[in-house]
Amino acid sequence: MTTHPLFDIAGRTALVTGSSRGIGHALARGLVEAGCTVVLNGRDPRGLEEAAKAAAELAGAGAEVHTAAFDVTDGPAVAAGIADVEERVGPLDILVNNAGMQNRAPLLEFTDDAWRQILDTNLTSAFLVGREAARRMTARGHGKIVNICSLQSEVVRPGIAPYAATKGALKMLTKGMCADWGRYGIQVNGLGPGYIETELTRPLVEDEEFSAWVKGRTPAGRWGRTEDLVGALLYLASPAADFVSGQILYVDGGMTSVL
Ligand code: NDP
Repeated sequence: MTTHPLFDIAGRTALVTGSSRGIGHALARGLVEAGCTVVLNGRDPRGLEEAAKAAAELAGAGAEVHTAAFDVTDGPAVAAGIADVEERVGPLDILVNNAGMQNRAPLLEFTDDAWRQILDTNLTSAFLVGREAARRMTARGHGKIVNICSLQSEVVRPGIAPYAATKGALKMLTKGMCADWGRYGIQVNGLGPGYIETELTRPLVEDEEFSAWVKGRTPAGRWGRTEDLVGALLYLASPAADFVSGQILYVDGGMTSVL
């Protein structure tokens, strides 16, 4: 089987933040299977090593998988982490800003610390890692950045306002990065997952009433799987999307389109 040249990303180097598990891990595995050299990131080095082994096994012999443990909310750690990745692995062609967290609580009960933590993890991280990677990509004249947004970049439910605020802002940061860096040959897009079964959403999956609501509200009639997101990422990272920038591609079984 041959790959259409527009979708051929074999040999490119990609960093996926927050890829020790969940969506980030599935996206990283997809990039490995597409022939990329992939750097996995997270804060826990042990979790990362296990994830790297699993990703390499999946892609078979010859897959290049590396790890880089750093906290994406810590500016100096991000600068050192990206410099180390480029020195050890090579110039980054693709960056996926995926690391994120959720904290469901009524807004009236949300503490200052919780607010700062979710803002740092879901929004500031994309600015810090994106800026550091783009400093290098702009000098080289090419690069693809994909920010993992959410259906909550568009809509919100009670109890999730801070999360939606970070994801809505991430949508605009995506467009702003596109505006600033387009002239340097960098395309910046967002991928917006719907409700996907991961560790982050396990309490919701196990809540029968909520789970039934998700299935009822989603035209596809089911929760999303992490694998559902891979094709969209490979497209946004490929030459097929060379003239696509500042867009958010929602992969949500249709949920953001219906009332
Ligand atoms: P998980 O909680 O399963 O995984 C989160 C990943 O991010 C882990 O690898 C974690 O590793 C890493 N991480 C968290 N904080 C940091 C940090 N400060 N520095 C470095 N790495 C960090 O989440 P999901 O896979 O479900 O979500 C991934 C992304 O997708 C998030 O941005 C989320 O908002 C988004 N999303 C998820 C949806 C869903 O339904 N699951 C829906 C829409 C969007 P470690 O703990 O070792 O640091």
